[in-house]
Amino acid sequence: MTKEPLKACMVCGNFTVRPVGWDVCRVCFWEDDGVIEPDRHSASNHMTVAEGREAFARYGAVEERFASKVRPPRKRERPENQPSPT
Ligand SMILES: [Zn+2]
Repeated sequence: MTKEPLKACMVCGNFTVRPVGWDVCRVCFWEDDGVIEPDRHSASNHMTVAEGREAFARYGAVEERFASKVRPPRKRERPENQPSPT
């Protein structure tokens, strides 16, 4: 079984989210429910992507109560370490 490449989290930008189906970012705790528009309300997260980004900048997670559950991005998850699209 080959490992599927992960996609970028909408909020923190690290490559932590499975491309298919539901997943939670381990770096900011954003639930990937398919919302990609910054100003659209995400039902799973009870906020917009833009609000999630603000909270991540402030707390290091999309909600203050998740701050203890997240972890720093691994080296291979960082955006600058992704293969450039061809
Ligand atoms: Zn994230």
